[in-house]
Amino acid sequence: ALTIGIVGLPNVGKSTLFNALTANDVLAANYPFATIEPNVGVVPLPDPRLAVLARLFDSERVVPATVSFVDIAGIVKGASEGQGLGNKFLANIREADAICQVIRAFVDDDVTHVDGRVDPAADIETINTELVLADLQTVENALPRLEKEVRGKKADPAVLEAARAAEAALSDGLPLSTAVKAGRLEPAHLRELGLLTTKPFLYVFNVDPASLGDDPAALAARERLQQLVAPAEAIFLDAQLESELAGLDADDAAELLAESGQSEPGLHQLARVGFATLGLQTYLTAGPKESRAWTIPQGATAPEAAGVIHTDFQRGFIKAEVVSYDDLVDAGSMTEAKSRGRVRMEGKDYVMADGDVVEFRFNV
Ligand code: GDP
Repeated sequence: ALTIGIVGLPNVGKSTLFNALTANDVLAANYPFATIEPNVGVVPLPDPRLAVLARLFDSERVVPATVSFVDIAGIVKGASEGQGLGNKFLANIREADAICQVIRAFVDDDVTHVDGRVDPAADIETINTELVLADLQTVENALPRLEKEVRGKKADPAVLEAARAAEAALSDGLPLSTAVKAGRLEPAHLRELGLLTTKPFLYVFNVDPASLGDDPAALAARERLQQLVAPAEAIFLDAQLESELAGLDADDAAELLAESGQSEPGLHQLARVGFATLGLQTYLTAGPKESRAWTIPQGATAPEAAGVIHTDFQRGFIKAEVVSYDDLVDAGSMTEAKSRGRVRMEGKDYVMADGDVVEFRFNV
């Protein structure tokens, strides 16, 4: 499964956040004997639509999609030089498919900041600089080899060209995802190098309770932080509050959440935004056995979606019977949705949309 690596400076609230995330680890809950890496958290993707479908179809159970987070300890200034924790840190982050930076925005004199003051902009700069320097080192190490291989006609000249463009961008201090957006290079050519800054980024700002909610001061505080990372996605949460919420039963959690001024836990937002940042989406199936969300890459076709359930479904794909969740719920039943003409027959070129409720027809 694709994973999101959680990184950040020491004392920003990573462990607090990670522990809250894993408080309802679905792997731990459903597969008590599975080997679970202590630094991996598999969390359900919140999807209120599943409970609604389960009521409509009288399903025995609900199976949400999941999002995997990896707690990557140890980024400090100098990590890119590969000393001490640095090497392990870089190896771990290389394996992640997206990077979630946790940034401290809360003020608390009892919690030391590594650099002595709370300064989100400076912290983002510190982390990005380490990642850019690590990539620069990787590219500089690879260039002589690539040059030799291109001379010997053993490598694609386009790869060498992309590596040179990457070196230039990184030397300018630019993460490669930015350079890609600016059209300076083609990421596909760099895949073999295992670079860090080509990965999608999202940001979690660990804020004071006063920065949550809808009052003007809170909105302004969040807007200021969002500006630091735009166009990347930002999530605002209070890690301590999240860990309290994770430990409460549903009623008490709802009450505490309402007091905080939030309409849903920050962790739910994090799971949703993280899932989308990985380039994933879901489609839904519903029946008496289960109502379920299935994970597919954004842009997947109907046969590819069928293949996630079973490879035979993809091989023998005939068509997909598709109704949008909203139409189905409006109609109140599959039969009524059909008689309203809301259920479509889609062929092998159909690109799946979010909220599609699907039944596949296939040859065995
Ligand atoms: P890590 O080093 O990034 O993993 O940070 P920790 O999660 O261990 O948190 C460091 C310290 O900050 C701990 O004492 C936490 O209780 C505290 N802390 C974490 N999140 C918050 C928060 O949102 N507000 C406040 N005031 N303290 C927090």
